[in-house]
Amino acid sequence: MRANCKIALVLSVCLASASMSYGQQTVVAKHGQLSVEGNRIVDKDGNPVVLRGMSLFWSQWMPQYYNAEAVEWLRDDWRCTVVRASMAVESGGYLSNPEREKRKIDTVVQAAIDLGIYVIIDWHDHNAHKHIEQARAFFEEMAKKYGKHPNVIYELWNEPLNSHDWSTVIKPYHEAVIPGIRAHDPDNLIACGSSTWSQDVDKASRDPLKFDNVAYTLHFYAATHRQSLRTKATTALNNGVALIVTEWGTSEASGSGKLDAEETRRWLDFMDRNHLSWCNWSVADKRETSAALMPRASGTGNWTAENISPSGTLVRKELRAKNPPPTTAAASRN
Ligand code: MG
Repeated sequence: MRANCKIALVLSVCLASASMSYGQQTVVAKHGQLSVEGNRIVDKDGNPVVLRGMSLFWSQWMPQYYNAEAVEWLRDDWRCTVVRASMAVESGGYLSNPEREKRKIDTVVQAAIDLGIYVIIDWHDHNAHKHIEQARAFFEEMAKKYGKHPNVIYELWNEPLNSHDWSTVIKPYHEAVIPGIRAHDPDNLIACGSSTWSQDVDKASRDPLKFDNVAYTLHFYAATHRQSLRTKATTALNNGVALIVTEWGTSEASGSGKLDAEETRRWLDFMDRNHLSWCNWSVADKRETSAALMPRASGTGNWTAENISPSGTLVRKELRAKNPPPTTAAASRN
């Protein structure tokens, strides 16, 4: 019996290391629970981790991409290690159709958990300070349901406006919502937006939130936002806070206009140098520069070169160059 046990043990150790050496681990199996250490997001072993992936478009306007097949295609063909589910709040979103919009988020979150990638639950709102109670209840429910999974990152307020003050409006909102999450999930990462469409990370870093595992959201659109925004980001990092780029575009701030490949390169280099995780805006087939897909691209992946826009082509190339190859579907359940 003892000898058999020994053989079984040796065998299982060999199998485990063989599967690891063949890269059969999902990204979440590899990095596990994320946390914030100083100005870095680190993995379960304390090493800096950089996630790169795609943001889905406003959930009420692009529902066709909120399904497991699209998420699987984004993992396998685009090599996304993270996806962002952008739950619309106003404009026909969660406030008027809570169950319908929440179902889309549940679908994408469950798919990401099954596929072993990270997922951002984004309260896609410009006026979240007017919806504190709804946001708190929503995130409490999400934390209760998904807080035990290391896959999940909570993004509390996509983009406050430039008129919203950090210290008196935005910070108090985060302070009202975070305890609801922490009651059920003591540790998963929380991304917090700042004023001027989540660009004033320098202001947030001077008056930071007093919670663990909080990162500040940095958003940019390469044809509009340039070195002055990178300087603000550097100031925030130097002040000791962690940043996460939950949304960025190759286009102008409107989401359309010029595709600035040169400035996009500067931003990608900046994010690499500073170990910043990112999601590109967006998985959409809308006729606008930042949309990654061409009109009428399938809702469930299998996108050919003709289905992918110039922006999508640039971003997919970057993802495939920088992210590790995905695991096989059979090995992906974690
Ligand atoms: Mg947790």
